[in-house]
Amino acid sequence: MRDSNCIFCKIANGEIPSRTIEENDMFRVVLDVGPATRGHALILPKEHYRNLYDLPEEMAAEAVKMAKKIALKMKEKLNCDGVNIVQNNEEAAGQTVFHFHMHVIPRYTNDGQVIGWKPGQPTAEEMDAVLEALK
Ligand code: 5GP
Ligand code: ZN
Repeated sequence: MRDSNCIFCKIANGEIPSRTIEENDMFRVVLDVGPATRGHALILPKEHYRNLYDLPEEMAAEAVKMAKKIALKMKEKLNCDGVNIVQNNEEAAGQTVFHFHMHVIPRYTNDGQVIGWKPGQPTAEEMDAVLEALK
């Protein structure tokens, strides 16, 4: 299914031109227009899924395979020193375009970008409570 109002559906299916670095039956991989670093890419499924909650399991597996392929390509072709895989789900998590996508972000020593979080300091009781909730 595609969503006629979704910009990533249009990009993924070639209705809007993009800088495509890789493509197969399921995905188009394009350069992000607001890159965190040189080479920042987005893996876009050609079908519309809002985010990871909706993405079929087999497509999730294929997306990770594609992420690995792109990461290796970045290492070889861009000579990056590392790669972050980032994938945001819902507004609270920073998702701004509601068509599943996976960021593949090449990292360069001292590139000055920050992708991270402030480490918490939960008590043992809090850790045990969340463990109970999740296991
Ligand atoms: P999110 O915050 O939803 O995880 O990431 C959305 C990403 O899409 C951002 O990094 C933003 O720069 C990128 N983006 C938004 N619109 C376009 C577009 O039209 N083309 C491309 N290539 N990237 C886009
Ligand atoms: Zn879409």
